[in-house]
Amino acid sequence: MTARPLNIVPFVSVENMMRLVNAIGVERFLTELAGVVEEDFRRWPAFDKTPRLASHSIDGVIELMPTSDGVTYGFKYVNGHPKNMREGRQTVTAFGLLADVGTGYPELLAEMTILTALRTAATSAVAAKHLARADARSMAIVGNGAQSEFQALAFKALLGVDRLRLWDIDPWASEKCARNLSRYGLDVTVASGVEAAVEGVDIVTTVTADKQRATILTDNLVGAGQHINAVGGDCRGKTELHRDILLRSDIFVEYPPQTRIEGEIQQLAADHPVTELWRVIAGEVPGRRSRDRITLFDSVGFATEDFSALRYVRSKLAGGDFHQDLDLLADPDEPRDLLGMVHRAAKT
Ligand code: NAD
Repeated sequence: MTARPLNIVPFVSVENMMRLVNAIGVERFLTELAGVVEEDFRRWPAFDKTPRLASHSIDGVIELMPTSDGVTYGFKYVNGHPKNMREGRQTVTAFGLLADVGTGYPELLAEMTILTALRTAATSAVAAKHLARADARSMAIVGNGAQSEFQALAFKALLGVDRLRLWDIDPWASEKCARNLSRYGLDVTVASGVEAAVEGVDIVTTVTADKQRATILTDNLVGAGQHINAVGGDCRGKTELHRDILLRSDIFVEYPPQTRIEGEIQQLAADHPVTELWRVIAGEVPGRRSRDRITLFDSVGFATEDFSALRYVRSKLAGGDFHQDLDLLADPDEPRDLLGMVHRAAKT
């Protein structure tokens, strides 16, 4: 981007985000984004971290997710309303912002509904790269809604997963998912049930939406050596896996203080051992300990991943036309003359 007045903030709308994703290509976008997510996990101690601030209601949750690396500050606004889908609305919508820590001035505002799906999938694939068996090529996706195809494409791009089994209680969702994925050269099967979907696959992704303790997977469905990418349970009182699965898995999490509240591990004792994913990525501790271990990425989505996603998008804006200038910030020539600026505007 060329030098811009400080009061003007680049804004990436939904339309421009879609143009950017199409210009880069979904798989390349996911691969490059995963690189930035991984880079930021590697410098984990540099980040200011806090569990996200959640405002719960009967129908859903609205959350704020802030973080900072000391140079740049970022936050995301995101909701989770499972009933929205039945009313023709998205379950998850989001937007986010980056700001300069030195001045506090915003530097980027962006839609993040699409970007969240991309960053969630990229993070899942980064985790699986470190946790799944190296020869993992097949995956079941349980829950075939908005997030599902992004998960499939991230696992294809980063791990070479080429065989998919889909299962959703709503056949329309599986058909939609299979249709959207048909152009990517994947071997996609719509399964007859959850058991048929997960039996014998290397990786199981659960990405369902329900505002309750659900049991999407029971213990008998999970076999030795599988990697479970549990994405849908991401809120207090909202889980997908039977507790017994957790008890025989090696569990990896983003930020324990948040995951203890929101993840599958809310079903376990507060001191149940878990491993922070960043330590595996940084090479401090091992990920998969043997071919037969069950590894579980208890994904809830953490603020640094959104920060990485916004950082990646910002890096792609230079010289392009993927943003609009937003007059977001009142910045009078004389800082203390805010009302004077308002008066002068009346004369023009
Ligand atoms: P969505 O509403 O578009 O799709 C959810 C799908 O799950 C629907 O098609 C529904 O029919 C299906 N489903 C519900 N119960 C099921 C069951 N028992 N078995 C099989 N399928 C079932 O939602 P989405 O946007 O795809 O999000 C899915 C979930 O992922 C949500 O719970 C959301 O909060 C969560 N999420 C997590 C992260 C993260 O970082 N961990 C990020 C984004 C979304």
